[in-house]
Amino acid sequence: MTDKTPIAIIGTGFAGLGMGIKLKEAGYEDFVILEQGSDVGGTWRDNHYPGCACDVQSALYSFSFEQNPNWSRMYAQQGEILDYLRHCAEKYGLMKHIRFNTHLATAHYDEQRNVWKLETADSPALWAYMQKHDLKPGDALDVNDPDLPAFEAMEVNILVSGMGGLSTPAYPNIQGLDRFRGKMFHSQDWDHGYDLKGKRVAVIGTGASAIQFVPEVAKEAARVDLYQRTPPWVMPKPDRPMKGWEQALFRRVPAAQSALRNAIYWQLESRVLALALNPRLMKVAELEARRHIRKQIPDRTLRRKVTPDYTIGCKRILLSNNYYPALAQDHVDVRTDGIQEVTAGGVVDKNGVEREVDAIIFGTGFRAQDPIPHGMIFGRGNRDLLDAWRDGAEAYKGTTVHGFPNFFILVGPNTGLGHSSMVYMIESQIQYVMDALAQMRQQGWEAVDVKEGVQADYNAMLQAKSDGSVWDSGCNSWYVNENGKNTTLWPSFTWAFRQQTNRFDAQQYVCETSASLREVAGEAVPA
Ligand code: NAP
Repeated sequence: MTDKTPIAIIGTGFAGLGMGIKLKEAGYEDFVILEQGSDVGGTWRDNHYPGCACDVQSALYSFSFEQNPNWSRMYAQQGEILDYLRHCAEKYGLMKHIRFNTHLATAHYDEQRNVWKLETADSPALWAYMQKHDLKPGDALDVNDPDLPAFEAMEVNILVSGMGGLSTPAYPNIQGLDRFRGKMFHSQDWDHGYDLKGKRVAVIGTGASAIQFVPEVAKEAARVDLYQRTPPWVMPKPDRPMKGWEQALFRRVPAAQSALRNAIYWQLESRVLALALNPRLMKVAELEARRHIRKQIPDRTLRRKVTPDYTIGCKRILLSNNYYPALAQDHVDVRTDGIQEVTAGGVVDKNGVEREVDAIIFGTGFRAQDPIPHGMIFGRGNRDLLDAWRDGAEAYKGTTVHGFPNFFILVGPNTGLGHSSMVYMIESQIQYVMDALAQMRQQGWEAVDVKEGVQADYNAMLQAKSDGSVWDSGCNSWYVNENGKNTTLWPSFTWAFRQQTNRFDAQQYVCETSASLREVAGEAVPA
């Protein structure tokens, strides 16, 4: 590897921007960030539904090296987080590295030359094509279709994915959806041009997104039918505006904000004791959540409907002060009989009752089990990453996958959290990648590929840690796949992950120099 290692990063969310910032700090200038949108921000650009906010305190849900004394609330809302990310991209000089409107179509690893061959497409043209052909994000593209917009080729040595684990919307497979003549959209594709005032709206799903937008929809709509399959556990959100004197203090004494950040970190971290080590302790949280229901919902029937029957924490614990009060309104109904089909004008429940609606909003989440689309990343032997993940996504330290050399996945398998800030995990992974790059440069390695057995042992350890945790307590959640394998969550303390990723452990990798690569290719190696 030479000093000027061409590196491509995909995405400009916390992961992609954080990676770019650290590369620049270390003196790398020759890198590109591919961004399919026309702005930075990742999930905080794409999710802009009414009420969208973070459920982790902003003092912690932000880069450790770029604290923001001006957060307006304890838990910032989407627009403010997006502005923060734009500020980071500008401040750290990343804009000149970003290629906007550029969609990564495919990435193939060339084993002979140790490069990733990328094909990119102009995203507006590609999206127009997908719309015309009724394709959804994540659907495979027919590369032989002459209608498909032209791809541009480029080559890089290092490929870093900052695509995130929750970016491809999941749509329910409900009979008749294609017949519906009203308005339909997913929470991630909110149509702000559609006026909800006076409309009859069906919402499907009661996850982290829905509990934020349902109260806002209920303010406008004439009627809301909320189709709930499984009730979430919801706790009070200790949110409040930041006080002027607090912001002034944080500006003048950054250590004060660091102290708040640390206090929040350790408070959230203490939950791992119950979540991962002794789920019986979750009873305490359950009592508080039950109190929240009793306090906010007077009607017994509704209370029963919204009270989960699984251990709290098995699915993500949600925070809200206005969700239950929204449900308790007369024009909002929680429907628990399931959906049989959708007709041209409404939704039919499993009792055969049809309710006419003007719009259906999907709060049905994301394709967390196949976070990277099929047909996109091809490693050694032209193997599709999703084929390598047929039994469930897995990586080594959430970052590298055997057979996919020089490919680093930020927010990869088993790096997700149910209890703390993803930015902390992202920064840990970035440190690991930076150390990998430094060692590659020092040692002259052109390719690093994690050993198969190392990855297998690591994942056996992860699954063993997940057994007996609250996530293994029998509920249906996107944390685990259909075989019960935890493919998404980090099942331990986040500081333990940071320890693991502090240094690139090259002995766990096959590290190849140019000479050994040329040997592999059958070329004569000069003495
Ligand atoms: P989600 O948590 O996966 O919730 C999806 C909801 O849709 C669930 O209630 C699910 O029911 C329901 N559903 C799915 N398919 C259905 C079907 N065919 N019929 C009926 N109901 C169906 O998705 P999300 O709310 O978009 O949140 C996803 C993740 O994004 C969160 O877990 C979180 O990590 C992240 N997020 C974070 C924040 C934040 O503040 N930091 C905010 C929003 C989202 P079941 O429970 O029965 O499966």
